[in-house]
Amino acid sequence: MAEASSGKSNGAAPGTVNVGGRAYTVIDHEYDVVVVGAGGAGLRATLGMAEKGLKTACVTKVFPTRSHTVAAQGGISASLGNMGPDDWRWHMYDTVKGSDWLGDQDAIEYMVREAIPAIVELEHYGVPFSRTPEGKIYQRPFGGMTTEFGKGIAQRTCAAADRTGHAILHTLYQQSLKHHAEFFIEYFALDLIMDEEGVCRGVMAWNLDDGTIHRFRAHMVVLATGGYGRVYFTATSAHTCTGDGGAMAMRAGLPIQDMEFIQFHPTGVYGAGCLITEGVRGEGGYVTNASGERFMERYAPSAKDLASRDVVSRSMTIEIREGRGCGPNKDYIELHVEHLDPKVIHERLPGIAETARIFAGVDVTRQPIPILPTCHYNMGGIPTNVHCEVVTVKDGDPNHVIPGLMAVGEAACVSVHGANRLGSNSLLDLVVFGRAAAIRAGKVLTPGEAHRQMPRAGEAAIARLDRLRHSSGGTGTAQLRIEMQRTMQNDCAVFRTQQSLDEGCAKMDKVFTGIADIRVKDRSMIWNSDLVETLEFENLVVQAQGTIRSAANRKESRGAHAREDYPDRDDKEWMKHTVVWVEENGKTRIDYRPVNLQPMSNDVQSFPPKARVY
Ligand code: FAD
Repeated sequence: MAEASSGKSNGAAPGTVNVGGRAYTVIDHEYDVVVVGAGGAGLRATLGMAEKGLKTACVTKVFPTRSHTVAAQGGISASLGNMGPDDWRWHMYDTVKGSDWLGDQDAIEYMVREAIPAIVELEHYGVPFSRTPEGKIYQRPFGGMTTEFGKGIAQRTCAAADRTGHAILHTLYQQSLKHHAEFFIEYFALDLIMDEEGVCRGVMAWNLDDGTIHRFRAHMVVLATGGYGRVYFTATSAHTCTGDGGAMAMRAGLPIQDMEFIQFHPTGVYGAGCLITEGVRGEGGYVTNASGERFMERYAPSAKDLASRDVVSRSMTIEIREGRGCGPNKDYIELHVEHLDPKVIHERLPGIAETARIFAGVDVTRQPIPILPTCHYNMGGIPTNVHCEVVTVKDGDPNHVIPGLMAVGEAACVSVHGANRLGSNSLLDLVVFGRAAAIRAGKVLTPGEAHRQMPRAGEAAIARLDRLRHSSGGTGTAQLRIEMQRTMQNDCAVFRTQQSLDEGCAKMDKVFTGIADIRVKDRSMIWNSDLVETLEFENLVVQAQGTIRSAANRKESRGAHAREDYPDRDDKEWMKHTVVWVEENGKTRIDYRPVNLQPMSNDVQSFPPKARVY
C-alpha cells in the first residue's frame, strides 16, 4: 500500500535555487498526473487516474480526510427512485431551473445521467449510506428537487445520516491508497508551471513540514482546491477554503467564470455561521418569523420551506429588514425541528443536534435554532468544458482549451450550477466530474511518457514566496483580510445595488493598495502559519476582486445575484457567462462566454428559459 510521501522517496536529488541571496532546496518529481486537492473532487479524480494506470500524485495542504468535503451533511443527489418515482430528466429540469438558466445543459445532462452509475460505484467502493427497511440507499427530499418537472416533491438526495461528505471522503481516500496513488500531505501548492506556449507542465509546492520546495512535472495537473468562501466575514466553509487553485489560474493569465454568483445558505447558525443542513427542512423542519408565522408560504406557495436556497435566503432577509426578525434585535429567523420525533433527529440528524447545542446553546428537541443566511458556496470557478479541461476565451474562441490543465469540484465552473446551485448537487458534481477527468485523462495521456525539461521552471513561484516571506511593511495580513471580508459582507451579499457594489469596489482597490505595505513577521520555512495565511490572503483577494467587479458589471437579477436596482432577469442582454481576469495588482478585465442551452444528446429535450417560480 502506498504511504503518504515525505517527498524524498521518489524525488530526484535535491537541487538549490538562489533567490535574493537566499538558497531554497528544490526537489524534482515526475508524474503522469498531479492532482492538487484531496477533497471529494480531488480524491475521486486521483482514484480514477490511478485506476487507469497513470502515475498519480495528490498534493494537499491538509490531511485528505480533513478537507472541507468532510463537512458536507445532507447528501448527494441521484434519481435512483428508491423512495418514490424519479427520472434523470426531472433532475435535469430541476438543475436547469435552479441555475436560473445560466447552467450549461450539455454538462447538466451529463451530470444527472452519470449520477446513477456514479452513486452505485460509490456504494461498491464502500460508502456506508443510510438504508431503507428493504436495504436500499436512503433518499431524502431537498430544496428545488421535484418530480414531473416541478409538480411533486422528489426524494432524491442519498444520505449517510447527516455525515455524507465524511463517509464519501474516507471511502475515496482508502480506495486511492488501494490503487497506489501517492499523497503529498501538508504540501502547499504555490503556482502552476506554464511553458511559453501556454501549456501547463506541472506545479510548484512548499512542504510545510521541512521547508523544502517541490517541482512536480506532470502531463496533466488537476486543480481541485475547493471554494473561496473565506472572502466573506461569515461563511459555512472552513478556514482553508481560500480559492488557491483559482488564484493560481489567474496568475497563469487565465480567467475565472461567473464569480458574481455566491450562494448564501439560509440556515447558518446565528452568530457562528456554521451550517444546519437543508436536510433538516427535508425531514420536516420549517422556519418562522417573530410572530411565529411560517412566512415561506407567502414567498413560495408550492415549495414553501423547500424552495431553492436563494429564494429562502432572500425571503428571510426581507422578513428581518421589514422588522419581523426574532430576538431582542429582531435580527434572526427561527428554524424548528422540535415537533419531529426525537428518534428521527437521533437517527437522521445527529450532527445537527450537536451543532445547535455547541454553537447556539439550543436543545433542538425543545427549542428552535436561531439562524441567518451565511456564505456557503461559489457557483463560479475555473471555466472548463464537460471533460474538465480548462478553457479560456482566446482569439474570439470562447472554448479554447489549455493543454495539460483540468479543474474539478468547487474550484471549477463546468457549469452545472449556473447562477444558483441546488443542495446535494455539489457532492454529485465532485464525484461525476472527478470521474470524468480520469476518463478523459485515460484517453489523452500515455502512461510514462517523457517530460519536457524546463530547467528554470518554477523559479517565479519561489521568487514570489521569497518576496512575501520577507515582506516588512507595517500592515499585518489579518488587518487587510478583515477589510476585504467586511467589504464583501457589507457590499456584495444577499442583496446588491450599483451603489453598494461601486463603494465595495473602491474599498477593495484600497485593500490592494495596502498589500504593498504587508508585513510577515515569521521568516521561517517550517510551519510558518504567518506565511501560509499571507499566501492564502493573496489568493483570496483576487477572488474577492473578481467577484465584486463581476457583480457590479452584471445589471440584472439571476439566481443568487439579486440586484435591487435591476430586480428582473434579462435573458436578452445577460444570458451569458462572465469571465474575469484579475491581475496581481487588482486590475480586472471582463469578457463573456455563451451559455449552452443544447443538451449533449440529440434526443434529449432542452429546457428553454421561463420564469423561475417555486
Ligand atoms: P474541498 O473539499 O474544499 O477540498 C479542497 C482540497 O484542496 C483540500 O484537500 C485542500 O487541502 C486542497 N487545497 C486547497 N488549496 C491548496 C493548496 N494551495 N495546496 C495544496 N492543497 C490545497 N454539498 C452537497 O452536495 N451536499 C451537502 O450535503 C453539502 N453540505 C455542505 C455542508 C457544509 C457545511 C458546506 C460548507 C458545504 C456543503 N456542501 C454540500 C458543499 C460541498 O461540501 C462542497 O462544495 C464540496 O465539498 C467541495 O469539495 P471540493 O473537493 O471541491 O473541495
